Amino acid sequence: MSKADILSMTLDECRALALSLGEKRFRGEQLYGWMQKGVPLSEMKNLPASFREKIENECDYRLPEIARKQVSKKDGTVKYLMRMTDGECVESVFMRYEHGNTVCVSCQAGCRMGCRFCASTLRGRARDLTAGEILGQIAVIQRDTGERVGGIVMMGIGEPLDNYDNTVRFLRLVSSGDGLNIGLRHISVSTCGLIPGIKKLSEEGLPVTLSISLHASDDTRRSSLMPVNNKYPIAELMEACREYFEKTGRRVSFEYTLISGENDSEADAKALAALLKKGMRGPSHINLIMLNKVDETGFDAPDRKGAERFRRLLEENGMNATIRRRLGSDIDASCGQLRLKNMEE
Ligand code: SF4
Repeated sequence: MSKADILSMTLDECRALALSLGEKRFRGEQLYGWMQKGVPLSEMKNLPASFREKIENECDYRLPEIARKQVSKKDGTVKYLMRMTDGECVESVFMRYEHGNTVCVSCQAGCRMGCRFCASTLRGRARDLTAGEILGQIAVIQRDTGERVGGIVMMGIGEPLDNYDNTVRFLRLVSSGDGLNIGLRHISVSTCGLIPGIKKLSEEGLPVTLSISLHASDDTRRSSLMPVNNKYPIAELMEACREYFEKTGRRVSFEYTLISGENDSEADAKALAALLKKGMRGPSHINLIMLNKVDETGFDAPDRKGAERFRRLLEENGMNATIRRRLGSDIDASCGQLRLKNMEE
């Protein structure tokens, strides 16, 4: 029988766990409180040793451990390699913005979506992370930095909607008032375009921002960059996004990674603006991302001037676009690179 994954539990489930282990309800509350702070079992000092022993023997506390840490000298961005209890490693990034601290979390060890420009998919997907393992990344970072995290982007390693149940459980846990209490409106869920997942998510009553990794505005090009597009082509994806907006009232944002010579021409900018204007018929926003070079993929980013020209063209064509500030450019900032390096070593 598999052991109870306690970091994925709600407060009520922790209370019930304590009762089932012959302890008082409030012991479950204490356990829950410590876990939300990313504290290892051996340091939960107000829990009786006998209770800790029972947890040790009968439960699975999957708190990630910091395996490696890179701090950007330029902007203080911190990139973590987090080791899960079975040895699988993922990446999490702590970013400081004027409006507060945001963490980018991973939701799978590896990814099976095969986007050609992405280091996270180069070795496929090892496994899904549990809700607790996703939450644990934030708890450990808050503990390490001593700073509160106010926003989350699910844009690290993995595809959140390919790990749907754990993603939704994570969203409920992390936004819970008795837990980390991070507002759903400050959380972005990024997807490469898994339409059934988008539709399901729109029914959950979770007002998160949906963020679509678009990266190309026609099917031929998008399918060559992102194999998922063969199954879920752009027109159907646009329809799902429109439905998401209509059901949730939440704006959809589109991520567009600028890749030199691939998708950054004047014609590309005009085609992108036309696609979103026609497809969304509601508010949407384009985040332009400068590709972080990954040697294995052979792709590179345009220069800053080229990116600015692309942004201007979008605006001239009626779109709202920003170039994402490139945080941590002096560390291995592209998603999946640190995990890959670690695997190679
Ligand atoms: S971009 Fe996202 S969905 Fe695509 S391979 Fe990378 S992690 Fe997976």
